[in-house]
Amino acid sequence: MASATSDFDQYRLTEEQQLLRKSVRELAEDRIAPRAAEIDETGEFPYDVRDALVRAGFHAVHVPEEYGGMGADALSACIVVEEVARVCASSSLIPAVNKLGSQPVILSGSEELKAQVLPPLASGEAMFSYALSEREAGSDAASMRTRAVRDGEHWVLNGTKAWISNAGVSSWYTVMAVTEPGKGPKGISAFVVHQDDPGFSVGPKERKLGIKGSPTCEIHFEDCTIPADRIVGEPGTGFKTALRTLDHTRLAIGAQALGIAQGAFDQAVGYIKERRQFGQAIADFQGVQFMVADMGMRIEAARQLVYAAAARAEREEPGLTFSSSAAKVFASDTAMSVTVDAVQLFGGAGFTKDFPVERMMRDAKITQIYEGTNQINRMVMARQLLK
Ligand SMILES: Cc1cc2nc3c(=O)[nH]c(=O)nc-3n(C[C@H](O)[C@H](O)[C@H](O)COP(=O)(O)OP(=O)(O)OC[C@H]3O[C@@H](n4cnc5c(N)ncnc54)[C@H](O)[C@@H]3O)c2cc1C
Repeated sequence: MASATSDFDQYRLTEEQQLLRKSVRELAEDRIAPRAAEIDETGEFPYDVRDALVRAGFHAVHVPEEYGGMGADALSACIVVEEVARVCASSSLIPAVNKLGSQPVILSGSEELKAQVLPPLASGEAMFSYALSEREAGSDAASMRTRAVRDGEHWVLNGTKAWISNAGVSSWYTVMAVTEPGKGPKGISAFVVHQDDPGFSVGPKERKLGIKGSPTCEIHFEDCTIPADRIVGEPGTGFKTALRTLDHTRLAIGAQALGIAQGAFDQAVGYIKERRQFGQAIADFQGVQFMVADMGMRIEAARQLVYAAAARAEREEPGLTFSSSAAKVFASDTAMSVTVDAVQLFGGAGFTKDFPVERMMRDAKITQIYEGTNQINRMVMARQLLK
């Protein structure tokens, strides 16, 4: 039997992970939090934040050491996203999308492809995006129309991908395209496209409710020609790779949602202790205390789900598909409810841009939509439970 001593290590971050959290939080508080409102207001990609993350090595901690990265475990990568999202959800998409874009290559790419594209990501020279969705193929991603045709030593891509996070800022794009029409998901392959490849272009930025500092655009392929060795894995394996990637990255969206919820909670707790009505701090009212208790409880439950899913990803355990979707859905629903309650606890002030909770409430919404809407993720979970 394990005794109740301080060396009981389950349900606790390692010392290294605790130190990582402290360092990322310091950077986030010093360099990112003061910029968050402005990033939201202007809708400009925060190059200064990107540079600060690169200098500190927090822009893509997941890249393995053999390709010049930190080789951080999946839970550490979540901690980075969570702590940045706690102050600025837009900025947290820098590490989150770098992982999303490059994970297909890490999972299924050839050694040569990894050696080509991962070192510039690790050094901060290049960012990476992920292009699965199309206007007419969102939840039903396998019905995509973008085509790739082999032409000697090249692949030629034609079509348009929609809703691509960090488009125009990233240099590299992992793109899923149909190579064998009529074969459904088994006729889809994955490719890595560079922004300078001929026939590649980026459309205008979407005008959005939140995460305004992360550009979302269409990307176009007009006879876009890339070397044959930029295929990720074998032809026909692209959709499988795309879904396996989401197993690893949905939990990172869970971490983003968790960070947004924690940020709004911390703001609300600070405010209710100061704000006085009826001659006392509003934190002294039981009706307010019950709200705070529920918010804190949901955040803790979300954190346990996200961290357990990350640990499962790291250990390559079965059951990751369910855990990752569960973490994403629960954490994003938590982010939405906690941020709405945080605005409520600020009263009229919460409805203004004088405090960050209104931005956090707007930013929270996307976590219920991308990387599979929460309905689609519930379908994924049910399929796992019923198989
Ligand atoms: C800001 C932003 C950033 C994004 N970033 C990326 C990115 O980097 N890369 C990328 O590839 N994609 C990205 N996306 C796309 C995103 O993943 C899709 O928007 C999402 O998967 C939903 O697809 P859709 O928008 O076509 O909605 P639809 O599929 O049209 O869904 C509309 C509604 O119908 C529901 N629905 C659909 N099918 C079912 C069903 N079978 N059962 C129950 N309900 C259903 C949905 O849950 C949703 O509520 C991004 C989107 C946004 C808004």
